[in-house]
Amino acid sequence: MSFAAVLDELPLAKAPSVRHFERLLSPASDDQLEELARQSRALTLQNFGRTMRLFAPLYLSNECINNCSYCGFSRDNPILRVTLEVEQVVAEAQHLAAQGFRQILLVAGEHPKFVSSTYLADCVRALNSKFSSIAIEVGPMETKEYVPVVAAGAEALVVYQETYDRATYAEMHTSGPKRDFNWRLDCPVRGYEAGFRRIGVGALFGLAEWRSEAIALAAHVDYLLKCCWQAQISVSLPRLRPAAGGFQPRFSMTDRELAQLICALRITFPQVGIVLSTRERASLRDALVPLGVTMMSAGSHTEPGGYTRQGTENLHRTIRGRIVAPEFENGSDQLATGQFEISDDRAPAEIARVLRGSGLEPVWKDWDQALLAP
Ligand code: SF4
Repeated sequence: MSFAAVLDELPLAKAPSVRHFERLLSPASDDQLEELARQSRALTLQNFGRTMRLFAPLYLSNECINNCSYCGFSRDNPILRVTLEVEQVVAEAQHLAAQGFRQILLVAGEHPKFVSSTYLADCVRALNSKFSSIAIEVGPMETKEYVPVVAAGAEALVVYQETYDRATYAEMHTSGPKRDFNWRLDCPVRGYEAGFRRIGVGALFGLAEWRSEAIALAAHVDYLLKCCWQAQISVSLPRLRPAAGGFQPRFSMTDRELAQLICALRITFPQVGIVLSTRERASLRDALVPLGVTMMSAGSHTEPGGYTRQGTENLHRTIRGRIVAPEFENGSDQLATGQFEISDDRAPAEIARVLRGSGLEPVWKDWDQALLAP
């Protein structure tokens, strides 16, 4: 049975683990929340030790053929765009490697002409010797298109459903191939069939009511754990941030609710990775870290070329998908536009120092991969 069928049946039939998860999300008193946090901390320690994997996103391109109401890269936003050449990607990656990163997430908007399977495979191949773990977060592809990317050395696929509510999804995705809800929903399984051995899923909190999203996300995790049993599954819980286009979140999710969600996920799925990005502010990230988070981004830029000012000579502005002159403003506008504003802008070394101060060892390298390497 596909996950689309499971999702559509969810109001009537939930797996026992998802029912348990739903109970853990019920409004909780301070004492109840403290108890959830205690269990979550203990399970995280038991399953992941005192470690925190650190990774950095590397944006390859902000070209996109979709219009997603909440995203700065939407096709109709008149922003500065670029797709980095492979050598420029390598230059960005060298900067990240010099900071200590050995785990990298390649991110791009959805534009098959610029970000093809061949281009991705070339980028991965060029970075493979420097990084122990390469993940991709790009527009969904066919299994056969993922195969060369896996063969080039990518081991993880990240694809967020954004919202599991079909009506909200249709409203938010106004044009482009992303409108196909089921095509995106099935993407993790296609990636698994192509050979990815880490699969990341998530919802973008702020588009629909958070508890319903979380329950659907938990059902997705439960499904993937059974169907993609050789893969490590991880979950991201991004909350909407300001972006070009000025979209405002429709539903709130408080810090306390985010903390409860992390605990509920950890207690229900003890071995699933939980990712926390720089969308959240530094003080909140520091507070959430011991609860169940296992992977954090650090020092992130969300604009292609943002680490070392690569690609500036190829910048162009598009209006409704058509290229027009860049129209630089007082020389201040000469980097590609970012996807959204980050909140925790501390340097990676500073984040590593804070983690050590809380008794956690920052892990820059994916030792699983390193030990398995021939
Ligand atoms: S969310 Fe992804 S697909 Fe949608 S506009 Fe942004 S980059 Fe494009």
